[in-house]
Amino acid sequence: MPSPHRMIPPGAPEKKARQGTFKRIAHTFKPYRWKVAFVALLILVTAGLGLINPLLIKVVFEDVLLGDETASDRLNLLWVVGGVMIATPIISGLLGLWQTYINNVIGQSVMQDLRNSLYAHLQHMSLRFFTSTRVGEIQSRLSNDVGGVQGVLTDTASSALSNVAIALSTVVAMFLLSWQLTLLSLGIMPFFLWLSRKVGKVRREVSGQTQESLADLTAHMQETLSVSGILLSKSFGRQGYEIGRFRGHNSRLAALEIKRTMVGRAFFAWVQIFFSITPAFVYLLGGWLLLRNNLNMTPPQVAGTIAAFTTLQSRLFFPMGQLLNLNVEIQSALALFDRIFEYLDLEHDITDRDGAIVIDPSTIDGHVSFEDVWFRYDKDRDDGDRSWTLGGVDIEVEAGQLVALVGPSGAGKTTITYMIPRLYDVERGAVKIDGFDVRDIKLESLGDLVGMVTQETYLFNASIRDNLRYGDPDAKDEELVAAARAAHIWERIEEMPEGLDTIVGERGYKMSGGEKQRLAIARVILKNPKVLILDEATSALDTHSERLVQEALRPLMSGRTTIAIAHRLSTILAADKILYIDRGQIVESGRHDELLAKDGAYASLYHEQFSDGTVESRCEDGLVLSTGEIVSEEVP
Ligand code: ATP
Repeated sequence: MPSPHRMIPPGAPEKKARQGTFKRIAHTFKPYRWKVAFVALLILVTAGLGLINPLLIKVVFEDVLLGDETASDRLNLLWVVGGVMIATPIISGLLGLWQTYINNVIGQSVMQDLRNSLYAHLQHMSLRFFTSTRVGEIQSRLSNDVGGVQGVLTDTASSALSNVAIALSTVVAMFLLSWQLTLLSLGIMPFFLWLSRKVGKVRREVSGQTQESLADLTAHMQETLSVSGILLSKSFGRQGYEIGRFRGHNSRLAALEIKRTMVGRAFFAWVQIFFSITPAFVYLLGGWLLLRNNLNMTPPQVAGTIAAFTTLQSRLFFPMGQLLNLNVEIQSALALFDRIFEYLDLEHDITDRDGAIVIDPSTIDGHVSFEDVWFRYDKDRDDGDRSWTLGGVDIEVEAGQLVALVGPSGAGKTTITYMIPRLYDVERGAVKIDGFDVRDIKLESLGDLVGMVTQETYLFNASIRDNLRYGDPDAKDEELVAAARAAHIWERIEEMPEGLDTIVGERGYKMSGGEKQRLAIARVILKNPKVLILDEATSALDTHSERLVQEALRPLMSGRTTIAIAHRLSTILAADKILYIDRGQIVESGRHDELLAKDGAYASLYHEQFSDGTVESRCEDGLVLSTGEIVSEEVP
């Protein structure tokens, strides 16, 4: 079975994929481009506003404190400058708030879109994908990975522009004040750029590993903390083992998280140290130039320039630190996006063909045919005939007939039934309903035509009403009751204090096996498909329960084409045709008595499984048997 990851073209060039990632991220923002443009405008305005106060400091020093105007003129100027210095931060604070709000709206919308398209994409993946991928891994991509990009979308992307604007405008202002001091302040930048690239690379790797580790942890929790998982570990006394495995995953994750944080933090620490010591250099150089009289400035001008310059410089620290760290952040985010896009790129191997048709179920009789059907689960495997699970299967089921599939375990019975609703596609040959190749019918329409009752009944942890309505979302309560009655489960529902509103529990664990099966049958009665696939449960129900299930099946099967993987004698005896399957081929076919008379594979299976004295007790469907022979038959 190919792993889902191998569904991505092997050896897809990584670098190209990275470039593609940027483009695709930009594409996800496309619907919100006007909002993005507005945020950009707000950012530019705020950055511009941020320059006013540092530059006003120069005015305070030069013209107010050390100026040569009259005291009252200087005082008036001080009031004006003070007023502006108070108003500017208030305005830019409010604009910043507005910008944060729109940022968040954009970020959340993009996340919502990503989650929606990922979920929709997964809903259309074939069974092949789900049988070969851990559920927890899938859940982790949907929640952890998409959740992980939230910070990037709401913070990093928007603050990047804001930081660029602040940094650029500040650097320009610094240059205008003194190019010598600016060069001194920024001389070390190339070193930081180099460092940030290095750190970014490490961070990206660690991020990818962290998400993988998180997926392992989620998958492990999902597997072992489900009802079936906990039942298994309890019944085998393996709690200690599971706790140990969990601890292993958990400590790996913790170590990776620490590494990820520390790599980023160490880098930030370097930037912080640098920006903390540069003012000292500015004073040193400024003082030196002043004392050597190289600046062509008056002392008040020098004082104003240095005060404004150091203020601007401190304003540079935060955005520069963030910008240098941006590469690091982006690399981490890319790792997350890569994982999301990797899933979005998984090919849908079962899709609607061009020109696929929608069929009105009322125009269909329900004739099913398999024409020389060949199928294998692993297309890459090629070891001759052994790789084929089905090899040249021909089946004709007339409308309304009941066909029973019997045969040894692993023979391919379930696989045959999978071909009808296109859970898998045939590799050669065709499966047809009323002459229409199932691949020519739209999948949604095919879903309406075919109904399945599987061995393991799956119920959602919701009310009985909601579970039943899965078969027909528009069904009224009367119809639900009628279906439940027909499936012999209504009496049981009525006994429950909350009736149809009873919550069935995780996977329906609050109900017995037989009750769940009857609920599932009622659900399919409501769906009313033309073709029914019935995989009878092998798990033994007690006689009373089994009888109820059989009675529930009767109205479901009547007048409907039914293909049943039969484990019950009653189904086998009632079948219009029994197909004995072995190693993916139909070995014998006919009615029960015909096949018994043949004394072949079916006869041996029958004698082995049913005619051991248990026949009479097992057969309660209006069929009266005596030592394996049908004496009278009243098939309903
Ligand atoms: P049973 O009566 O035990 O349910 P079956 O006749 O229904 O058996 P299938 O489930 O159709 O048999 O399986 C036929 C063969 O295909 C088996 O050998 C099985 O191991 C294999 N098989 C089934 N599902 C898959 C899968 N998803 N991937 C690979 N091989 C599979």
